[in-house]
Amino acid sequence: MDTYENLLAAIAPAGGETRAVEDPATGERIADAPVHTTADLDRAITRAQQAQPAWAALSDEERSATLNRVADAIEAATEPLARVLSREQGKPLNGPNARFEVGACVGWLRATAATPLPTEVVVDDGETYAELHYRPVGLVGAITPWNWPMMIAIWQIAPALRMGNAVVAKPSEHTTLSGLALAAVMNEVLPEGLLNVVTGAGDIGAAMVADPRFGKIMFTGSTATGKKIIEASAGNVTRLTLELGGNDAGIVLPDVDPQAIAEGLFWGAFINTGQTCAALKRLYVHDDVYDDVVAALAEVARKMPMGVGLDEANVLGPLQNRMQFDVVDRLVEAAKASGARVVLGGEPDREAPGHFYPTTLVADVDPDNPLVVEEQFGPALPIIRYRDLDEAVELANGVDVGLGASVWSADRDRAREIAARLEAGTVWINSHGGVHPMVPFGGVKKSGYGLEFGVEGLKAVSVPQVING
Ligand code: ADP
Repeated sequence: MDTYENLLAAIAPAGGETRAVEDPATGERIADAPVHTTADLDRAITRAQQAQPAWAALSDEERSATLNRVADAIEAATEPLARVLSREQGKPLNGPNARFEVGACVGWLRATAATPLPTEVVVDDGETYAELHYRPVGLVGAITPWNWPMMIAIWQIAPALRMGNAVVAKPSEHTTLSGLALAAVMNEVLPEGLLNVVTGAGDIGAAMVADPRFGKIMFTGSTATGKKIIEASAGNVTRLTLELGGNDAGIVLPDVDPQAIAEGLFWGAFINTGQTCAALKRLYVHDDVYDDVVAALAEVARKMPMGVGLDEANVLGPLQNRMQFDVVDRLVEAAKASGARVVLGGEPDREAPGHFYPTTLVADVDPDNPLVVEEQFGPALPIIRYRDLDEAVELANGVDVGLGASVWSADRDRAREIAARLEAGTVWINSHGGVHPMVPFGGVKKSGYGLEFGVEGLKAVSVPQVING
């Protein structure tokens, strides 16, 4: 696994149905990926269930030590992993992209290994003695999307393993190689059978959710699929953590220094070329600073190179697939047709083999424009002018999702007051989208439920048990 070629060879299909994987920057065929069946899924579940009791019987320290060794293995394979990720997902090696994502996998594993979750004595008053333990659920299903295919997989797998569970992971059908490559490196260290990857599309995901052998499903993806998962799991009463779509708002107050916040706004919106659940997707800017903020943001955006991921100069890449290119294209065209002003970008080359959509800023756009109220999930940011702060808060809250939000102001106390009024699982002040392995993360409204990361994340992949007496 020390080179890209060896890593691809290690995950090459052993037979059965396969699917060609294309580089989203060039259309070039990279490799073939296996397409698994429900019989493969059944075998993976059996293997996982066989491996789980011995793993759960280890001490917490032993499991944490193993997770740290997994982190070492990933760190040692950073370059080959980042290359697979860059070629399949499209994100550049450089900038907050492929190497950064592999680094986040290492960081999350180490933090997950270091987080204590001791047994709690909840009452000890002489009459009652009650302890709260966190036991493994047994088998955890990890269903992931294509935008951060390695990091989000680790977010689900690391806490599940730490708490003594076995895992069957299903990567997105758009980023199968990334899921397989990550697991191949992890499995150099993990006990046989504990972590299994099953590939395929929504039908395999649906078969996982319907299978009563899973005690818990961790899911990151669209709200539409999240709803199907809720329905399909009802019969088994499977525990769920759902991290669904978002349409994060940022509110810029009139007291900001536009130059000082421009780069933070840019990365808040355009990290991973806008293909991030908790990216800034609607920017509300006060009239007093509107023109200056738009100009400062355009100046930063103009300088950020977009292109083929393997070129070290680039920090923005193509969209991962044509479906997403078409979503962004449709929404920007709708904004243009409504009379909104395109400050930057907005003219993609639709005939090119890669799915590149240029960095796009759309100003003076109506608050109810489709580019504002629908999730674009790509490099096109609508910037809405406001005069009345209460109205901006109302518009920010006027969608049915609530993953993240941000407030930008020189006055922290004022920003915190506004933050408290925003309907979102996380509100950042003077930044957007940064996550930390010890800080709980989750959505409200139709962005889903359940928390990931930190102690809360460990509890989410366990079953509580009270010992009373
Ligand atoms: P997106 O394509 O926007 O990431 P999806 O919700 O379509 O969002 O996909 C996220 C993950 O969910 C993928 O791994 C996909 O294969 C899987 N998936 C799709 N449909 C279902 C379903 N009905 N049940 C379980 N998983 C599904």
